[in-house]
Amino acid sequence: MTDQAQDTARRVSVRVDGTVQGVGYRPFVYRLAAELGIAGWVLNDERGVLVEAEGPPDAVAAFAERLSSEAPPLADVTAVTVEDVPVTGEAGFRIVASVRGGAATAPVTPDSATCDECLAELDDPADRRHRYPFLNCTNCGPRFTIVRGIPYDRPMTTMAGFQMCDACQAEYDDPLDRRFHAQPNACPVCGPKVRLLERGGARVEADDGVRAAADDLLAGKILAVKGLGGYHLACRADSEEAVAALRSRKRREGRPFALLVADVDAARELVELGPEEEALLQSRERPIVLATRKAGAAVAAAVAPGVPELGIMLPYTPLHHLLANDTGVPLVLTSGNVSDEPIAFLDEELARIETIADRFLVHDRPIATRTDDSVARIVRGVPLMLRRSRGYVPASVELPIACPVALLGAGAEQKNAFCLASGTRAWPSHHIGDIKNYETLQSLRDGVAHFEALFEVTPEVVAHDLHPDYLSTRYALEREEGGLVLHGVQHHHAHLAATLAEHGETGPAVGAIYDGTGFGPDGTIWGGELLVGGLAGYERVGRLVTAKMPGGERAIAEPWRMACSWLTQMRAPLPPAFADIAQPRWNMVASMSMTGMGSPATSSAGRLFDAVAAICGVRLEVTYEGQAAIEFEALADPAGGEPYTFPMEAKEMIVLNPRPTLMAILADIKAGVPVETISARFHQTMAGATSEACVIAAERAGVDVVVLSGGVFQNKLLLRLTADALEDAGLRVLSPRLLPPNDGQIAYGQVAVAAAQLAGA
Ligand SMILES: [Zn+2]
Ligand SMILES: [Zn+2]
Repeated sequence: MTDQAQDTARRVSVRVDGTVQGVGYRPFVYRLAAELGIAGWVLNDERGVLVEAEGPPDAVAAFAERLSSEAPPLADVTAVTVEDVPVTGEAGFRIVASVRGGAATAPVTPDSATCDECLAELDDPADRRHRYPFLNCTNCGPRFTIVRGIPYDRPMTTMAGFQMCDACQAEYDDPLDRRFHAQPNACPVCGPKVRLLERGGARVEADDGVRAAADDLLAGKILAVKGLGGYHLACRADSEEAVAALRSRKRREGRPFALLVADVDAARELVELGPEEEALLQSRERPIVLATRKAGAAVAAAVAPGVPELGIMLPYTPLHHLLANDTGVPLVLTSGNVSDEPIAFLDEELARIETIADRFLVHDRPIATRTDDSVARIVRGVPLMLRRSRGYVPASVELPIACPVALLGAGAEQKNAFCLASGTRAWPSHHIGDIKNYETLQSLRDGVAHFEALFEVTPEVVAHDLHPDYLSTRYALEREEGGLVLHGVQHHHAHLAATLAEHGETGPAVGAIYDGTGFGPDGTIWGGELLVGGLAGYERVGRLVTAKMPGGERAIAEPWRMACSWLTQMRAPLPPAFADIAQPRWNMVASMSMTGMGSPATSSAGRLFDAVAAICGVRLEVTYEGQAAIEFEALADPAGGEPYTFPMEAKEMIVLNPRPTLMAILADIKAGVPVETISARFHQTMAGATSEACVIAAERAGVDVVVLSGGVFQNKLLLRLTADALEDAGLRVLSPRLLPPNDGQIAYGQVAVAAAQLAGA
């Protein structure tokens, strides 16, 4: 370079922060530099990516701008910091070897759906990866589910046992190739392979195991399919016989099955899709999306009995693309387990599902972490997560307050997910499940250890639920023995805090927190609560009238018990729904609800929904929590209905009294009013009473923000009606978006509360 050229050249040092490693960012920088005639270098270091760039000032400015605006699909650039440095006259552009040492290396990203370029190769008979079920590249493929430790390099993944062939290695080493440093890179020569097995393990002879499996599915067989985060059970969804067989072998009476379809056109045949649903279905996270079933959809009734929605997902691995395309019919794709056990993910666990499947489509790439499919639906135009797991985990969620020390949230007992946090970053975990046995408790222990290693975070404080009997609380006590400091967080406060924090807020706000059951510090079971507060603290300003839960937990499985409790308390006549319950049984439960023997008092909104659903005869017993309420919501007349009276006592404490509502429902039943109308009226009533109470609480507290959360707000109709009413009253409504309103958000909320309280101390 001449002296004159150096005068007009500019050199900058550029720091790029965010998720920029393991996502093809350096090759992107390299190509951009080549296009703009920029000299210099790029490297990965412990913070992210560092670039030095030299060239004509206009080109350097354009280069710096495009570093964020044109970043590759899986990158998430949070900041680009540009600083001028002396011109050196360097020629050419280089990718410099990574600098190791220092703190955390490349963050592990979530698994990502197969990209369009890979799909084109999958379909191209001339391509060396034609129909190869494990093809991937830097822009797509497995990540979290194959990672065993850090640094995120092939030896630390479950691809370690596969030595790349020369062709794959050449791609891996070429900065201009789409597979440059793609850790799971593989091809039919060197990578994982599928096998189709009979029960008992004998191999089915077939040239193409996937095609043979597809033929089996078309013939009505039930297959176990090893996927990305665990085993699924699959069968054709349009066959009553196959679906009924799967349901009976799996011993899963009521819960709906998810469906896999080839593409969004196939999804449109089955369900009503708005633009938001279509975008969510096609997102690279590929959750199961719940959407309203179309009349005449070719899906067996046994897929989703009693609910008007179907859970649909699009293929997210090449294997799923092949199965969906080869069969050409919607497939049931449900977790590979028996009833409430965790989904099987280790090959040794196949025995657990041996009696369910006729054949097994397996492969030899191990799964590092069991990761269930995520589930979401669209409410009021935005996604509402019901389960945040595969595709989303382990992406971090910001905290509005920095943790003074590294924190762990142990989560709740149901729908458990834990959460690790350091600084303003929190990492909510994959779905662990209901921690009611040793296996799930062990999954929690293993999961936490894995996250601590992945993010190089060693927590000093463990935040936990106040419920002394939760196994997640016992886990926190185990950690206390290991030297961590315990920090108890009330369950509904955690719901409020989680919702505020994910929106970047700290409060104060009014929170209407409605869920099944949660430990209340006053000795009752909470679940229909009005709180005022923020991350650092709360006050309980309102609640539902309490009723006894006859037999405790049994009242969750048998909603008629909650109905009995309310009707006994009110001395109300019995509706016809209870005609079949034997008198001595009814009398026993009625007497429990009077004496309180083994029957704690609860202000739970979830249990009130159960009682109303039972009174209307929707369901006296359930096979999963919330089933009666879900089916009751499903029945609601879309035309709506007049609300019932639902008086509230607004003294120091706002107390919502559902007794007059229940009496009016009994009168409606007696008068022959259809349950569709009663359901619509009841939803309208709950939304009206809740919003009125929130308005009073907000005025008293001088705040204008209302949080709606808790598992009951998975109810789309209730959430929509309540939020609309609050907005009409001029209040700002926050509901969970990134994390579920159910107990899946508790651990993140625990961490947010602990961060705020410790920071203030
Ligand atoms: Zn790809
Ligand atoms: Zn290869």
